Amino acid sequence: MVTSHQEFVKHAVATSSGRTMLVTNPATGEALAELPDAGREDVWRAVDGAAEAFPGWAATPALERARILRRIYERMTEQRDELARIITEENGKPFEEARREVAFATGYFSWFGEEARRVYGEIVPPPVPGKRLWVIRQPVGVVGAITPWNFPATMVTRKIAPALAAGCTVVLKPASATPLTALAIARIGEEAGLPAGVFTVVTSTNSGAVGQVFLDHPAVRKIAFTGSTEVGKRLMAGASQQLKRLSFELGGNAPFIVFEDADLAQAADGAVAIKFLRVAGQSCICANRVYVQESVAERFIPMFVERTRALKVAPGFEAGAQIGPLINGEILEKVDGLVKDALQDGAVLAAGGRRITDGALGAGLFYEPTVLTDVREEMAVAKEEIFGPVAPVMTFRDEGEVIERSNATRFGLAAYLYTRDLRRAIRTAEGLEYGMVGVNDASGYTHEIPFGGFKESGMGREGGRQGIEEYMEVKSISIGM
Ligand code: NAP
Repeated sequence: MVTSHQEFVKHAVATSSGRTMLVTNPATGEALAELPDAGREDVWRAVDGAAEAFPGWAATPALERARILRRIYERMTEQRDELARIITEENGKPFEEARREVAFATGYFSWFGEEARRVYGEIVPPPVPGKRLWVIRQPVGVVGAITPWNFPATMVTRKIAPALAAGCTVVLKPASATPLTALAIARIGEEAGLPAGVFTVVTSTNSGAVGQVFLDHPAVRKIAFTGSTEVGKRLMAGASQQLKRLSFELGGNAPFIVFEDADLAQAADGAVAIKFLRVAGQSCICANRVYVQESVAERFIPMFVERTRALKVAPGFEAGAQIGPLINGEILEKVDGLVKDALQDGAVLAAGGRRITDGALGAGLFYEPTVLTDVREEMAVAKEEIFGPVAPVMTFRDEGEVIERSNATRFGLAAYLYTRDLRRAIRTAEGLEYGMVGVNDASGYTHEIPFGGFKESGMGREGGRQGIEEYMEVKSISIGM
């Protein structure tokens, strides 16, 4: 068996059962590594280790924690290409996109390393004489983190950087499809000086068992999860037993609104970028519904279709590749099913619309970038999170109508709007029930602002100055004088 990345085994928690799991390349089917497949006892042991490491790490001065996070940032920056190669191999996304992901993921260590030093408390005026009131913030404790496969680096660093900065210790279970990037980050953490037990990675195909340990082990005080809304709900129900702290980044169904006064070329570029150029549409903030005002639909749609047709679908290491494979056969089937159902219900195919089965791409899970017009709200392709390179386009008459239709979903993660009218931009941005709104900007998501969802898209925020607060408790101290 080919296992080109076997060196990472030593950075994963070992199993007592000896069970193993395979990591494969979705573009070729080639095996990349055989890793420990952890079960309940192994994860429990990892949490014990994190609990043991917690008091020492929590007591480490913030400046020292910040220095270590800075070293991780520097080493990840130095190893950018190596990390990107691992991402392309296990996830399939184009190498250049993976390089951008690594640069972005790395930025969470510099941002939260800096924030570690600004975890301020308060001194509050007492209501009676002879007292002093202090408010301080302390790390929550051991964090159980669970991450998905679509951003194998960013999803990891967006959680562990603020947790470590706050003084928490972390046991992370990365997606079983993409654990190698997480292990590479763990190796860098060790090299940068993280003490043993502060950041531990468990690799497992038994995600239910890992989640259950996080729910059952009394030392785990907080669960940070990114993934599907369905799994989030299951974890939330389980967390009620010990009232674990939770933060969830879940599914989305982002509207992308093009008003008649928008710069249409800029809007078409933005729509292509946020629909297709993020892991081939397999991202929670991807445009999921494109709304274009009736009066400009005939001009905008051809611009969007032309740009979509020009995208290069190719294996990740091919020069100029823009759209890689889908991560697994199940997602490919789902995407194809949504397109077929929509076409049967009267949608019109303007670009793409099928799995690529011929030529060199036939061996991988590649799907053509697809545009559907004449889509109606009740179609599954508009209601569900697509998670693939398919853009359903709908038209609308006026601002009030498009805000109402945009909000008519159980999700509320990201939304985008394009207009040149400042008042309309403000009204619409304020009216959209979403955690992040991009105004003439399809790439607004960044370290400095909080990110997270309304409604069933999640709870809590990652990034921004708020990101570190998710890993802290607030303690009030009342001192009688
Ligand atoms: P998923 O099935 O929920 O998996 C996410 C993670 O949870 C993986 O590590 C998975 O392990 C694990 N998991 C699965 N079942 C579990 C259980 N019963 N208990 C504990 N852990 C469990 O989601 P996905 O399909 O991989 O990822 C796509 C979803 O994530 C989409 O809905 C997307 O919108 C969302 N997402 C949201 C954000 C955000 O920031 N809001 C970012 C990225 C993705 P395995 O890998 O072993 O299955």
